[in-house]
Amino acid sequence: MRIAIGGIMHESNSFSAKPTNLALFEEVGIAEGEDLRRVWGNSRHEIAGYLADLDEAGVESIPTLMAWATPSGMVERAAIDELLSRVFHRLKGESFDGILFGLHGAMVLEGHQDGDGYILQRLRAEFGSEIPLISTLDFHANISETMVNLTDALVVYQSNPHVDQLQRGKLAASMMRRFIKGEVRPTQAMARHPMIFPILHQNTTHGPMKPLIDRLKELETRDEVLAANLVAGFPYADVPEIGAVSVIVTDGDEALAQELSKELADSLWALRDRLDTNLPDAAEAVRLANESVVEPVVLVEMGDNVGGGSAADSTFILSELVRQKSERSIVVVYDPESVKACVGAGIGGQVSLQVGGKTDELHGTPVSIFGRVRLLADGKYEEREIRHGGRRYNDQGLTALVEYGVGNLVVINSHRDPPMSLHQLLSLGIQPERFRILVVKAAIAYRAAYESVLKRIIEVDTPGTTTPNPRRLDYKHVPRPIFPLDEI
Ligand SMILES: [Zn+2]
Repeated sequence: MRIAIGGIMHESNSFSAKPTNLALFEEVGIAEGEDLRRVWGNSRHEIAGYLADLDEAGVESIPTLMAWATPSGMVERAAIDELLSRVFHRLKGESFDGILFGLHGAMVLEGHQDGDGYILQRLRAEFGSEIPLISTLDFHANISETMVNLTDALVVYQSNPHVDQLQRGKLAASMMRRFIKGEVRPTQAMARHPMIFPILHQNTTHGPMKPLIDRLKELETRDEVLAANLVAGFPYADVPEIGAVSVIVTDGDEALAQELSKELADSLWALRDRLDTNLPDAAEAVRLANESVVEPVVLVEMGDNVGGGSAADSTFILSELVRQKSERSIVVVYDPESVKACVGAGIGGQVSLQVGGKTDELHGTPVSIFGRVRLLADGKYEEREIRHGGRRYNDQGLTALVEYGVGNLVVINSHRDPPMSLHQLLSLGIQPERFRILVVKAAIAYRAAYESVLKRIIEVDTPGTTTPNPRRLDYKHVPRPIFPLDEI
């Protein structure tokens, strides 16, 4: 038995002005052939799960290509066509019995909104409709009928922050082996209600989502259920297939798959009254943090959730920290221009910077910072623990650490880099537990890294391309009526 493995993953924010091209995939790194094993094999990602299961079972895997880019705007069609042509090239002349292909599930392509459906169509066109094809998906996927129809099975993470990617990859691979041997016959069904699930409530360890995740785990203890999935969906992709849905994979039992997916979709729908999105604004949140009797306080800048494809240079909280004279705060801001100015000043040099607010008109205006360059670094860091995203090797690009006021730090980087790992700070010599205020440009995912140091969380309603309130987004392609945009 031989299994081809690979992945092309992107979470696309339709409201972002920054299109995603091949260079942005290359910034994170495109791993091909045996390089895929070197880069992803010892990670916590589902690709590592595929490899681990197949290796353990003594099944040969054929690594093709794994490409991932930091969430950003719509993906250029040419980039995906190029990546797919490399996958096809790697498999030319090879014989294999099945394909395990990792997708995010919320990719929006230029000219083809269902980006993941497009990739699956191309795989089917190249390798035929009969070959077993199983895909893993992110918990933030927007699942289309096409994706369900073109795969034999979908396997979705059951956690947010995503900390079970390795196990879900193993499950997908073991299902593939059993399928090829004729031991199981994956049969899947999807059910949905028209529902955009606010990102604020997509935590699987606290809040309204938790009992549903417990139910999925219970269902998977049954022999006839091969995978029990639900996705919260990605609210920032303006696509017809947006939203929270359930997909259940059974062993040949279509009626059971339909019945259970309907049950889960009904449970999601029943949560509507518990999904309000009222949060303090930046001024109020900084006031609360300055007065807090416990520290560190994490301020979650919801409108600039970098892992959701936003600009990474929002200044709504930074400007309030400066205005309200906060002390011992940390903010990470993407601003290559300011990094260059810091390199010019050198370590120890005084700088007068206009920080952030440069990508678009939606994330605030530049903030004047007069400070001292404490450190310059190449921005590479490693994460060995189980953290959201499962990646081991990270790179925030050339990075400057600037100190201003009373013990405040701005980490200014050259790649948009979401706060999934504390090593983003630790690698710069920062001890986050000694600070009063830690600002994260995030929603939920940062928690896997930060819960060990934080004493209090304040989620903040800031404007931006990842506003916590879906009613503020100018959707053009979602089906109406839909919760919470319309009364239903
Ligand atoms: Zn996700």
